[in-house]
Amino acid sequence: MPLQLFNTLTRRLESFKPLKDKKVGLYACGPTVYDYAHIGNLRSYIIWDILHRTLEYNGYKVKHVMNITDVGHLTSNADEGEDKIEKGAAREHKSAWEIADFYTKAFMKNMAELNIHKPDVICRATGHIKEQIKLIKKLEKKGFTYINAEGVYFDTSKLPDYGELAGLKNQDLRSGIRVAIGGKRHNADFALWKFSPKLKKRQMEWNSPWGVGFPGWHIECSAMSAKYLGLPFDIHCGGIDHIPVHHTNEIAQTEAAEGVVPARYWVHNEFLNMGEEKMAKSAGNFITLDTLKEKNISPLAYRFFILQTHYRKQLTFSWMALEAAQNGLDHLCLAAASLDKKSSLSMHSVEIEEKIKEKFLKAISDDMDTPAALAIVWEAVKEKKISQKILFEFDKVLGLKIKENMDKPVQSIPISARALIDERDTARAAKNWKKSDELRDELIKLGYTVMDTPKGTKITKN
Ligand code: AMP
Ligand code: ZN
Repeated sequence: MPLQLFNTLTRRLESFKPLKDKKVGLYACGPTVYDYAHIGNLRSYIIWDILHRTLEYNGYKVKHVMNITDVGHLTSNADEGEDKIEKGAAREHKSAWEIADFYTKAFMKNMAELNIHKPDVICRATGHIKEQIKLIKKLEKKGFTYINAEGVYFDTSKLPDYGELAGLKNQDLRSGIRVAIGGKRHNADFALWKFSPKLKKRQMEWNSPWGVGFPGWHIECSAMSAKYLGLPFDIHCGGIDHIPVHHTNEIAQTEAAEGVVPARYWVHNEFLNMGEEKMAKSAGNFITLDTLKEKNISPLAYRFFILQTHYRKQLTFSWMALEAAQNGLDHLCLAAASLDKKSSLSMHSVEIEEKIKEKFLKAISDDMDTPAALAIVWEAVKEKKISQKILFEFDKVLGLKIKENMDKPVQSIPISARALIDERDTARAAKNWKKSDELRDELIKLGYTVMDTPKGTKITKN
């Protein structure tokens, strides 16, 4: 079965066919580097890494490009407010360049800790100002721009199928984006080039044919994806929040300038939520990878946690689920150590292994069904149906570093004790003190010291 991907552009599951035989061009929108990435952001990058690895597992050679947004992303996605990088610089009394450099490095460290392949090309918006100006000039020449007091804007009314990605084909919806706001002719129009404020000197600004200023947020991705992958390329990815604005506008720019939709497949991941809401820096409800490490949750356990849910489903953060993921990964590594190193020669086991390999390939190629792939792996390992050699092949896709962690002692709490802790925390939440005491005694009998903390029951081995 060929690789299936859900394409936001057509709203269908499609068989993946690359433009050039076995080569794939993949562009994933990178981070805006004004603060640490939160683990919601990192969910996206784990998913794109799985996509990259799944393509390789299916025999494709991937060229993976990721941008770094180090200028032009304003606090409101509608081109209003402050530049996030300059705001970060003011917050930390550093220069905008230092802020971008510091948080780019922190992000790359997070990527390495999560065993995410480094993209083949990592390109900064500030390193591609010439390319962005060239593209805006092309749009201007073709009559898609206008200038107001704020900068150079894209006139969305000039592009008949503007908003197709977000499903804005319906006339009623489209009329909603035609209302003029501020200096814009229509609400959906967006900045290609913003002028520097008259009374305030920006740290990051450049000369342009229209005046001193800086590029809008969307133009960097159009300019850099075309430069490094050519047009059109195969796959463009990002979080679902990019569908209505950022990716819609990327498509508009490239379609208007070059007459082509930049990518064939548009793949979007759902959010990691905190309670009912999306985890977001602006909402202040975010957790970083370092916070997880402080609580003894390893970055790879976080990766395992992410893989347990399909990328197009929302996922809610909880400490309990993360502890269970740490436990699950530790047990997988422990069980892996007891497998045969290589497949035994008996026909029977080779046949079984081949069947499991087929099932694994089918699951991961079914729009990256990582929960199904993990279930196949766990069952095969638990029942010792595969050798370490095959498990490590599967781990080339999962990226859990099972081989490297197989011989390390298990730090986490055994599942039996974990179940008692969960049960006890539920009993305490229901103020069932009798049950809570009984469960505490059971844990003591198993050889643990039991503590009550604001985060629930904690235990240590005596
Ligand atoms: P940013 O650094 O804000 O430009 O975002 C980087 C990536 O993280 C983008 O692809 C966003 O769509 C994605 N993202 C932001 N918040 C979340 C979240 N809570 N869960 C999953 N992905 C997210
Ligand atoms: Zn982008």
